[in-house]
Amino acid sequence: MIAMAARCFFHSSPKPCFSFTPRCSSSSPPAPGGKGKGKALREDWRERSKPIPPGGVYPAKDKCSRCGLCDTYYIAHVNNACPFLGDGMSRVEDLEPVVHGRGRKDSMDEMYYGVHEQLLYARKTEPVQGAQWTGIVTTIAVEMLKSNMVDAVVCVQSDPDDRFAPRPVLARTPEEVIAARGVKPTLSPNLDTLALVEVNLSSSSCYILCHCF
Ligand SMILES: Cc1cc2nc3c(=O)[nH]c(=O)nc-3n(C[C@H](O)[C@H](O)[C@H](O)COP(=O)(O)OP(=O)(O)OC[C@H]3O[C@@H](n4cnc5c(N)ncnc54)[C@H](O)[C@@H]3O)c2cc1C
Ligand code: SF4
Repeated sequence: MIAMAARCFFHSSPKPCFSFTPRCSSSSPPAPGGKGKGKALREDWRERSKPIPPGGVYPAKDKCSRCGLCDTYYIAHVNNACPFLGDGMSRVEDLEPVVHGRGRKDSMDEMYYGVHEQLLYARKTEPVQGAQWTGIVTTIAVEMLKSNMVDAVVCVQSDPDDRFAPRPVLARTPEEVIAARGVKPTLSPNLDTLALVEVNLSSSSCYILCHCF
């Protein structure tokens, strides 16, 4: 699940964990961690982009995790965004201070789970029926929507014909989030919602909080 948040849910300050500002008229955004290697894109990169058609070969070829980016015009950013191209995952070292304000501490917990303030273990006393475990993720997302902490939530519903086939959606109501409860045990092209985010939430800046599994 990914939530578009007005402010960071996990910090008391309004500082986001990760920010995504829709850019409707700019050229290419800078590439944090890209060490300046990214080539500047033309103003009309959206119009010129060619998403990968069904059955096509993705830029990362057999390493591709079908994250969804290349199914949209954001494929224009693939060289800076894809974890399997160029400097790839090694850019995490540079990105963590940009995103979290510091890199990982040299502790087992942070090396394993990434930058965090506190690890909490919890379960709901009244489980959400049909959720994966007790439905904490679904409940957090619903409460964030209800309290206007977020404008929308990217979550993963099922294909109506196949319960295990993931269908990423931009949920705007609690009912849409609840309809996405339960894990679809497969890779899911969640980033194909980025263009939807831009179209639907373009009137304001928004932030994305990533729920990481
Ligand atoms: C592919 C996958 C593998 C996982 N493997 C582990 C693991 O090895 N160890 C572990 O501790 N936990 C793992 N998890 C997380 C765990 O299964 C539960 O999602 C988590 O514990 C939350 O439980 P919950 O009852 O709050 O879930 P729920 O309230 O049911 O919420 C689950 C959320 O996951 C979203 N979702 C469903 N399928 C996907 C998908 N394919 N990709 C992205 N989001 C999705 C749903 O939209 C929903 O928002 C995995 C999750 C996924 C999606
Ligand atoms: S950005 Fe995503 S879809 Fe594109 S090649 Fe990399 S993993 Fe595949």
